[in-house]
Amino acid sequence: MNYDLVVKNGTIVTAMTSYKADIGIIDGKISAIGRGLAGKEVLDATDRLVTPGAIDTHVHLEMPIGNFVSSDDFYEGTKAAAFGGTTSIIDFVESRKEQSFLDALEERKSKAAGKAVIDYGFHMTIGPDDIRKLDQVQAAYEAGCRSFKIYMAYGLRLTDGEILKAFEAIGETGALPVVHAENWDVITTLIEKNISEGNTGPEWHTRSRPSLMEAEAVGRVIDLAAYAGVPVHIFHISCPEAAERVRQARIQGHYVSGETCPQYLCLTDEVFEAEGIEGALPICSPPIRSIIDQLGLWEHLSGDSFHTISSDHCPFTKEEKASGLSAFNRVPGGVPSIEMRFPAIFSRGVREGFITENQWVDLCCTMPARLFGLENKGDIQVGKDADLVIFDPGKEVVLSEETLHETAGWTPYKNMTMTGWPETTISRGQIIIGNGECTAEKGRGKYLA
Ligand SMILES: [Zn+2]
Repeated sequence: MNYDLVVKNGTIVTAMTSYKADIGIIDGKISAIGRGLAGKEVLDATDRLVTPGAIDTHVHLEMPIGNFVSSDDFYEGTKAAAFGGTTSIIDFVESRKEQSFLDALEERKSKAAGKAVIDYGFHMTIGPDDIRKLDQVQAAYEAGCRSFKIYMAYGLRLTDGEILKAFEAIGETGALPVVHAENWDVITTLIEKNISEGNTGPEWHTRSRPSLMEAEAVGRVIDLAAYAGVPVHIFHISCPEAAERVRQARIQGHYVSGETCPQYLCLTDEVFEAEGIEGALPICSPPIRSIIDQLGLWEHLSGDSFHTISSDHCPFTKEEKASGLSAFNRVPGGVPSIEMRFPAIFSRGVREGFITENQWVDLCCTMPARLFGLENKGDIQVGKDADLVIFDPGKEVVLSEETLHETAGWTPYKNMTMTGWPETTISRGQIIIGNGECTAEKGRGKYLA
């Protein structure tokens, strides 16, 4: 058999095991795994790891928030993702008040089509104005939204009763509810108090969002899901107290899963000590917490509290961030992590001994695909899409706005050294990143239904 492309002599790393073999690709699919495979094109992966393409199930590309739009569009954002070894993303749809879920999905799909260089799907957001659209949940599910986003914070937050109604509608389809869990009432009370006492600096962002109030909301929404009889996935857990709620619920047999993000695993609240705008740039929610919290999250990662690591990529430029410099609660929230996520979890997690290389692949590739119904993605098996990363475990990259391909013009990870970086990224059998160049044509990415 002569394959279109063969990845030779690499160490294949899956969620289950690691072994040396060649991978043969035909028509964009993994067609054989074995020894001595020959192909029209051959990539030598000697001394390299070969992983499934990473999947980032939580990104916000060209997302309008208030007066701003997050700074990477579907081209720049997916290109940066590909440089970091990510071959599929799931972004979000928010419908306007008078707009149907399906129209909103089409509008969002048309933004990504023609731009995305990797494959993309969408979570459908259910905000307070959408409670009367719950009869459209089935149609959105059939159109490819396998997950529905619910907020317990911000203007899009639902009351507990509305969450119950939404869960019941989602439950009928078999889709997965995903939740931003924070106790909004307590947070807004603390923000008001701190601002009125003149405590406006960025460190007060974290102090206004205590760990216990994140954990309270996580516990509450798990109870609501258990009552409604639906599974639930908790987004961006930032503290061990919240992770513990997931762990406990799973011991009790609830179908709960957890996500955390690189910003909580690689940064600490020391970032807020920088002068001026630099100290305000890393504001995101839930907030970046202490080193004790960070180490607690790493400890939970070796257990059963976390199932995905996503970026929650939602960057704004320095100028946009500076518009809110007068007080922490006016700074648009979000950081760029779409490119460094996969290598960072290897560098910080695997190399420093918190998790195994198989857990790394499970958290960043395999479980995301399984939880969100991406059947052809996330694993190296015959018949799956040939989404692969040839990963150089020894390559050192110093993160900065020059080495990364994101467009925000800053990174909270500046001057951090990562050991281990993707050398080649392959999407459906096509080399899209190689020799430090992006060779993907704009718009080659496909919608994942
Ligand atoms: Zn988010």
